[in-house]
Amino acid sequence: MIPGLHRPTKAIINLQAIADNIKTIQSHIPQGTKTYAVVKADAYGHGAVKVAHFIQGIVDAFAVSNLDEAIELRQSGITNDILVLGPIVPADIKLAKAFALTLTVSSLEWLDVARSQGSDFRDLTVHIKVDSGMGRIGIRTAEEANYLLSELKEAGSTVEGIFTHFATADEVDDQKLQEQLAFFKKILAQLDEQPELVHASNSAASLWHKETIFSAVRLGLAIYGLNPSGSTLSLPYPLKPALSLESALIQMKKIDEGDNVGYGATYTASSAQYIGTVPIGYADGWTRDLQGFSVLVDGQECEIVGRISMDQLTVRLPQAYPLGTKVTLIGTEKGQRISATDLARKRGTINYEILCLLSSRIPRQYL
Ligand SMILES: *Cc1c(COP(=O)(O)O)cnc(C)c1O
Repeated sequence: MIPGLHRPTKAIINLQAIADNIKTIQSHIPQGTKTYAVVKADAYGHGAVKVAHFIQGIVDAFAVSNLDEAIELRQSGITNDILVLGPIVPADIKLAKAFALTLTVSSLEWLDVARSQGSDFRDLTVHIKVDSGMGRIGIRTAEEANYLLSELKEAGSTVEGIFTHFATADEVDDQKLQEQLAFFKKILAQLDEQPELVHASNSAASLWHKETIFSAVRLGLAIYGLNPSGSTLSLPYPLKPALSLESALIQMKKIDEGDNVGYGATYTASSAQYIGTVPIGYADGWTRDLQGFSVLVDGQECEIVGRISMDQLTVRLPQAYPLGTKVTLIGTEKGQRISATDLARKRGTINYEILCLLSSRIPRQYL
């Protein structure tokens, strides 16, 4: 059940835009590079199953963050390789094998724990994760990598890949990125045996740092048409945002000078004016700090006035509009545009978070 199906609020997903973005990026990176489409967190709010089915023929594989996201894709009929980027608990190795998933091995301790629990490593496919400076998951020395390579092979697994992740690929200053790249290359050079797949580049590194591209890339945000640096770096070529968010006025009223709007009575009308109510609130991911931001009505920016409630928000309208008038919260209307990046700037966060927070109460409608 989608707990908001009979409400005018909906996210409209342009699947073709996602496919077009992938093809655009592929045309700008070395031919033969394998593409992992990163569809974690329900494809950044776009709907992982729908997205994966639409693009399965133009990408090589998928990457997700956890086992359940991977199983969801498998059970929906996806046959591409699926890499689970985060470490799983060793007890679930059996489950991963049952769904033919590729796991990330990021520490020697994980291998030890799995072994002590009697895990069967035969016919398991893994990628080794190197921490080249992110400081999160991954091994930090060539000795550890070589140990994992030989032990996993001995235990009957296939080490198909080795990868790392950059902390600052979306920034102007690339010093840290170059240090991480050099660190990763040094480890690669010391491997007893090089796995078939070597990958380091997320969206930002794929867009702005071709030198980081080995045999595969892991593309997340950019395939959804957004700039992974927000507005810090400009996109080297245009991408199309795939998600728009729409609703409609469910009530419109004229209030008088001095009237208040919303919880806390934080807004007082300075003159007689029209107030529209839109059925979206913080339970949908439209957080309270968006008070003062705008929505588009009839191609005009209308300020969100008064507190944002759990289920509703209120906007100041320039004139009277009938019930059911379309409200655009993310997207383009009559040449005016509000992007997830604009919202992120207002909230002091990143566009990734804006998309991921759009809750399951908002139905996704596919073009
Ligand atoms: C999420 C993630 C990606 C994709 O990042 P984008 O910036 O969205 O392209 C790539 N690699 C890893 C390890 C990730 O966790």
